[in-house]
Amino acid sequence: MNTRISILGLGAMGRALASAFVEAGHEVTVWNRTPGKAGDLVGRGAREARSVAEAVRAAEVTVVCLLNDASVRETLAPIVAELEGRTLVNLTSGSAEQARELAVWLEGYGVRLLAGGIMAVPPTVGTEGAFILYSGARELFERLAPVLAPIGRPQWVGEDQGFAALYDMAALSGMYGMSAGTDHAVSLVHASGGDVERFKREVLQPWMEQMLVFMVAGADVSETVPEEFNAAMQATGLETMIATSEEAGVHAELAGHLRASLWRMRRAVAMN
Ligand code: NDP
Repeated sequence: MNTRISILGLGAMGRALASAFVEAGHEVTVWNRTPGKAGDLVGRGAREARSVAEAVRAAEVTVVCLLNDASVRETLAPIVAELEGRTLVNLTSGSAEQARELAVWLEGYGVRLLAGGIMAVPPTVGTEGAFILYSGARELFERLAPVLAPIGRPQWVGEDQGFAALYDMAALSGMYGMSAGTDHAVSLVHASGGDVERFKREVLQPWMEQMLVFMVAGADVSETVPEEFNAAMQATGLETMIATSEEAGVHAELAGHLRASLWRMRRAVAMN
């Protein structure tokens, strides 16, 4: 199915999205605030619009991928009255409340909006593991899903326009939490004179792979810790990890995630 798609924003992500749409055979128009960022897209068949209005007019579906919510507002505000009856897909990261407010603002001008969250990085856009979260009207999602599939598997997460952003940020929070842990792990090895690359390859990677499924399954909001986790034992282990950090002179801030986990285990022990 060949669709006329415009992309607003040619940063690293916008270029990757445009490239995947071109590759899939869609008729692609691109626009970027700073001209000259289309790279090889034009040579591959994309058209570069000189203005936002021109890009939006050229398309059946406009995909917006700018820096943040403020840049989306700044870009659309001057032409919002011309958007009536148009369909926009916003893949710009933002908060859930920003996504809801944007939808209300645009719907006031007769725009149909699908809010998105990209669960990919530019090199993985369009590859097997990539998926994109969408929220908004289900019927709109179902109509657009085949068109949007080339950038990543479309996954609808609800009518509430804020949910794609919420799930996106929550998933990123999980990733940054793991990053804090892995940074801390290599800092400990480095500070103690260990071989960081070897540790990463032979210990950290296989250990994280083995534990990932338990970490995700065990993620919990309740105040209790399941019995099989043995909160008292975990608390002792966390105390040892903090002591190891202190021995190695690794910044206390990096061990913040350990202190948070220790706090949770101690609370669980106190409640049992
Ligand atoms: P870049 O920093 O590479 O690009 C930012 C884009 O936003 C450029 O096109 C820039 O235009 C434009 N922009 C910034 N401010 C304004 C403004 N005030 N008005 C108009 N245009 C503006 O970022 P990415 O392309 O990597 O990211 C784009 C979005 O995708 C972000 O929301 C990001 O969170 C999200 N995302 C990115 C991922 C990644 O790994 N890169 C992963 C998942 C989501 P100009 O060239 O003129 O400065």
